[in-house]
Amino acid sequence: MSDGLILVVEDESSFVEALRVGLGREGFRVETATDGVEALARFEELQPDLVLLDVMLPRLSGIEVCRQIRKKSQVPIIMVTAKGAEIDTVVGLEVGADDYVTKPYRLRELVARMHAVMRRTPDAAAAAELDSATIDVGTVRLDPDAHRVTHDGVELTLPLKEFDLLHLLLANAGRVVTRETLIDRVWGHDYVGDTKTLDVHIKRLRSKLEADPSNPTLITTIRGLGYKYTR
Ligand code: CA
Repeated sequence: MSDGLILVVEDESSFVEALRVGLGREGFRVETATDGVEALARFEELQPDLVLLDVMLPRLSGIEVCRQIRKKSQVPIIMVTAKGAEIDTVVGLEVGADDYVTKPYRLRELVARMHAVMRRTPDAAAAAELDSATIDVGTVRLDPDAHRVTHDGVELTLPLKEFDLLHLLLANAGRVVTRETLIDRVWGHDYVGDTKTLDVHIKRLRSKLEADPSNPTLITTIRGLGYKYTR
């Protein structure tokens, strides 16, 4: 099982270590940057699922980092502001942060907010209409018009729902797509069946695509949220 990758941007080493341990225990993978310039470089390199961004940073402020990231990404961003610095909070939300926490904060509160923004953001991304353009991700090519999928050039036979599910995941490659969105988009708003149906279909896709279906590397499970196709 794979978990969300969090980029923690924080210059105080005691906070960094506490977050690394605390968020790791909650099942997240944690990478860090200790100033604003490094934050932008690591963001490009890692394409994290969420950015936890301190406002007061050396070299480039958290506000400016947020502004730069928002020019090209809708990744969830949670700002960390100092107590009494309401102005940072206001500006942070204005430049596109999804939420904020004020130091000192409780880990439990932070994790709850992280889950909330991660649930919210991919829905907006995945809500875009799928079009008929052929999608290439890694060794997989999906042609919606011809209803054809190839893997390493070999054609796969996919029933309609598996095809639609793969189409949605590939169109959002690199991003988490929530269970709610997948069920909604593939089975429809009024779907009342067992939500295990989704897992069964994911399992079938994995058996056709993954080198080792029991240790999937293409379609990964993001605990508590949904699935992500690795770009
Ligand atoms: Ca700081």
